[in-house]
Amino acid sequence: MKPNNNNSCMDSTPLPTREGQGGGAAFFNPETETLSREQIEALQLERLQQTVRHCMNNEFYQKKFKEAGITPDDIKTLADVRKLPFTTKQDLRDTYPFGMACVPLRDCVRLHSSSGTTGNPTVILHTQKDLDEWANQVARNLWMVGLRPDDVFQNSSGYGMFTGGLGFQYGAEKLGMLTVPAAAGNSLRQIKFITDFGTTAIHAVPSYITRLYEVMKEQGVDPRRDTKLKMLAIGAEPHSEEQRQRIEDLLGVKAYNSFGMSEMCGPGVGFECPEQNGMHFWEDYYIVEIVDPETLEPVPDGEIGELVLTTLCREAMPLLRYRTRDLTRVLGRTCPCGRNHIRLDRMRGRSDDMMVLRGVNIFPIQIEKILMQFSELGNNYLITLTTDAENDNMTVEVELAEPTDDYKKLQTLEREIKRRLKDEILLTPIVKLVPQGSLPVSEGKAVRVVDKRKVYQ
Ligand code: ADP
Ligand code: ZN
Repeated sequence: MKPNNNNSCMDSTPLPTREGQGGGAAFFNPETETLSREQIEALQLERLQQTVRHCMNNEFYQKKFKEAGITPDDIKTLADVRKLPFTTKQDLRDTYPFGMACVPLRDCVRLHSSSGTTGNPTVILHTQKDLDEWANQVARNLWMVGLRPDDVFQNSSGYGMFTGGLGFQYGAEKLGMLTVPAAAGNSLRQIKFITDFGTTAIHAVPSYITRLYEVMKEQGVDPRRDTKLKMLAIGAEPHSEEQRQRIEDLLGVKAYNSFGMSEMCGPGVGFECPEQNGMHFWEDYYIVEIVDPETLEPVPDGEIGELVLTTLCREAMPLLRYRTRDLTRVLGRTCPCGRNHIRLDRMRGRSDDMMVLRGVNIFPIQIEKILMQFSELGNNYLITLTTDAENDNMTVEVELAEPTDDYKKLQTLEREIKRRLKDEILLTPIVKLVPQGSLPVSEGKAVRVVDKRKVYQ
């Protein structure tokens, strides 16, 4: 079975549609979602060859290819992707703003840009076709976890340059849902929308969902009794399985992990299916590689490495072997849900999120995992790194779920948290239990680590 009359993604072939499917259909794009491994790989090779040729419209890529001593004709098999040069965020910065565009600017209809706190911001351009494909990916994900046109989708994610806003908006609309662009923050208004509009699904960063639940509780709103919520899409920031489970328990609904990044389009790149056993990364849109971040050699399935993605359908700004810095591993390439698109584990974090404290490598998510196992603890925490005369220190502040003045109980709890953290991260942090609502909450991605050590360096 062919996914399209023409396997190219970069022409005016209409996207596969769900026309003729009833709400009971399992797949949004049955042709592409149910491809066998062989069919996926054949399609990838064809699209890779085309993408590589398309890149030759751009000076940056011409130069890179020359340096690597290759031409598009060298891509004969899928494994030849490894002959291609890597691209990085630094390349995007160096060519800011439009130096990596592979079509004339007049063919682009949208631009997204990251904040650029450390140097030039990065710019990602989209043609109309790119936006349509992106919406298709998001719609496919939401359909996969059971959403249908009669659902009400509330997008409680930042809009504007952050791709979680418009990305989910267009995807949910494409699926045909009534879509509420609630944007981030203002929890009282969010709750009013949820109850008044009969919201059945929400997308937000996980740290915001737990905050929303706390406000619901304060307002006497019981999500099980007073809302029609049935699922959440949570993503855009690392979170532990324990946090997901906690969110599911608090709200009484399924929470599906959603991976995206602006460089690839935005949300839609990877999403969990109902099996919740890793995220399917859509291999008709991307080639997925996991490499050792030091040697850049592929690592075997099951081993943690850096995620490297090559776009297969992007017109405005295709990216070859883009080093995401995100660390993950391959869980499998088939799935009981019927999709044979690769399954990746939840992200450990980015290699640049890793804290090195007294020679030990620690990811914030490891700390979160432990904290979330204590029912006495709330959902918000903050890790602060400082230096005293001799040592680097870590302080973990964590909110309590319920107020208490039973100091003995608090002391025992603190001791137990320290002990469990030490087992996980091999050193003992200072633990401070603080009242609920006392730690900062950000509207976008949560800030989990404050590194004050730089002051002393
Ligand atoms: P920025 O680079 O400014 O954070 P993006 O919104 O493009 O902008 O963020 C993409 C990054 O967000 C990914 O590279 C990854 O580190 C993180 N991310 C996105 N989705 C998830 C997820 N489901 N789990 C963990 N991290 C995620
Ligand atoms: Zn699946």
